[in-house]
Amino acid sequence: MKNWLSKILIFIKLKYQDISILHTTKIFSYDEYNRHTKNHQKDDAEKFLFEKSLLPKTQTKFIFSGYCYVCKKIVDFLVDFQHSYEVNNILMPNWRERLACPSCHLVNRTRATVHLFEQECKPMHDSKIYITEQTTPLYSLLKTAYPNTFGSEYIGDVLGYGDCNQNGIRNEDLTKLSFNNDEFDFSRLVVSLWA
Ligand SMILES: [Zn+2]
Repeated sequence: MKNWLSKILIFIKLKYQDISILHTTKIFSYDEYNRHTKNHQKDDAEKFLFEKSLLPKTQTKFIFSGYCYVCKKIVDFLVDFQHSYEVNNILMPNWRERLACPSCHLVNRTRATVHLFEQECKPMHDSKIYITEQTTPLYSLLKTAYPNTFGSEYIGDVLGYGDCNQNGIRNEDLTKLSFNNDEFDFSRLVVSLWA
């Protein structure tokens, strides 16, 4: 689709629909998941054809215009073939790990993480949040939006757990966190995104 046409379509959607809402389906069991997958096979096939229609003739990077929930504006997302894989014998971009916003630098997965977190958990500006990363754009964004955000990385036993290295990066082992119980409002939230 021509880029100017996709921008017009996004503008119309923004004007007449609330596209800032991420429509989700809550699934509580493996059986439910299987039923959901089976019932949406046609949708998945349509999605694949749409995604295939976006591919350039050669495996070069390209842009796709869309609405960035984090930046609250229409941007030109960057798509390339990093982490790509074959679907039906066609090399497809890794849509989950790409579609990088040129403004906030978050990729599709991390933008969806912020979107879902804010939509479903409704954190306050002063909520105490713990995230198991500290050197990423996602951590920086949360720290800016929610100053009581704390992050860490796994550095290993070269440093005590709960201690920071010379760059201020806190060392934590997810299996034995050094924080006190109930220290955070949002620390029990486990986000696992895969497709
Ligand atoms: Zn953005």
